[in-house]
This record gives sequence, structure tokens and C-alpha cells, in this order.
Amino acid sequence: MGAVRCLIVEDNEDLAATLADYLESRGVAADVAADGRTALHLAAHNEYDVAVLDLGLPDIDGLEVCRRLRAGPRPDLPVLMLTARDTVDQRLAGFAAGTDDYLVKPFSLPELAARLTALDRRARGESRARALAVGDLHLDLDTLAVTRGGVAIQLPPIPLKLLALLLRNSHRVVPRQELEAEIWGDDPPESGVLKAHIHVLRRAIDRPFAVPLLRTVPGVGYRLALPEGTGPAT
Ligand code: CA
Repeated sequence: MGAVRCLIVEDNEDLAATLADYLESRGVAADVAADGRTALHLAAHNEYDVAVLDLGLPDIDGLEVCRRLRAGPRPDLPVLMLTARDTVDQRLAGFAAGTDDYLVKPFSLPELAARLTALDRRARGESRARALAVGDLHLDLDTLAVTRGGVAIQLPPIPLKLLALLLRNSHRVVPRQELEAEIWGDDPPESGVLKAHIHVLRRAIDRPFAVPLLRTVPGVGYRLALPEGTGPAT
């Protein structure tokens, strides 16, 4: 795993140090964050290839950290979640939050390293092709370029994050509160602010085109999807 950079998010100091030492002995450059906020800060300011994320953290839990990574600085960072409990509910919650793989404590260090290698390889192999799309609307996760019907669309940062969130969750209506939490965390702005960013997004991705994709579900939230009854060719 030469030249791989790993972010370890683990509040147990001994375990974090053991993981970091082991990975570094295998040529992985490892940074350690002992809580969720530090993890998000490091992920926003450094280039990591993979992350090991403990589920139980003192501030923001691991699922929420994963969601925020997906919504914000690193939508494509491969994440291996660590948990003390192995239940189907936990696995499903992890995968719903965007976790790529899952390891139950206690685990062996070679297994952890093997899974990280696999995640890193998969991500490198896929990185050229990684994109989110609904209909003819595309978001390239490497370049963050947005196009619709091949036409380039410019978006400010918050509408771009909203677009990534809505594309990733296009199978469902995303509640307003969830979007606010993903973007602003525990300190959301007043209620009209999200609406204003949605308006900017809608004006850019829908107004110039025949088929609207961004739907408001009054009192609930927003969904980005092809309208009922339209085929994928539209
Ligand atoms: Ca923990």
C-alpha cells in the first residue's frame, strides 16, 4: 500500500496509536483524529485515500461523520467503519450513511490492512468513472463538473453540495432538516436560507431545460429525480 494516505478516526488512544503504527509500518501515512469534528477538519484540508472511522465517537457519531464527509469535502473518500457491535441494523445504517466497508471489533490488523488496500484499489480503479447522475444531469465526483445534456453548469459551493446530496439520494425525498444538518451541521441558518440555495440550484439545473428534475415536496423536503412517466431517454 505504498503512498496511501489514511485518516484514522478513533477516540480510543491506544487503538488509534496501534492502528497508526501498524499502517505506517506498511508504508501508509496515517493521521489520527480523536473526534468527529477533527476528522471533518482534517478531511477538508488534506488529501486522504481511505478513512478508518470508529462508530462511537465523543462528539459526532461515526455515521454522522460519514454523512458529512459524503455531503461535503469528500463525497468519494472510501470509508471503513469500525464498530463494537455487529447487527444487521448497524450494517444497514452504516451503508445508508455511505460507508464502503465494515469491520467489527476486535479485528486483526492484517485484515484491516487488507480491507483498506481493497478499498483504495477499488477507488483508484473507479475514480475515472465516478459520477452521479439523474437523467441527463451529471456530477463528476473527481472534477465536480456539472453538466446537463452535455451543457456545462456552474454552481456556487452550497448549491453544488445540495446537488451531490440530492443525486446520491435520488431514490427518496430528502427532508429539509436533513439537508440543513448535512450542510451546516448543528448550527443551521434561518429557515429561508436553504430555500434560497435550492432556488439557485433549480435555476441552474432545471430552468433552461424542458424536463424539471428538482421537485419540492411541500412541508417535507426535496427530491431530485426524473418525473413520473418519463423514460431514461428524456
Ligand atoms: Ca469509540
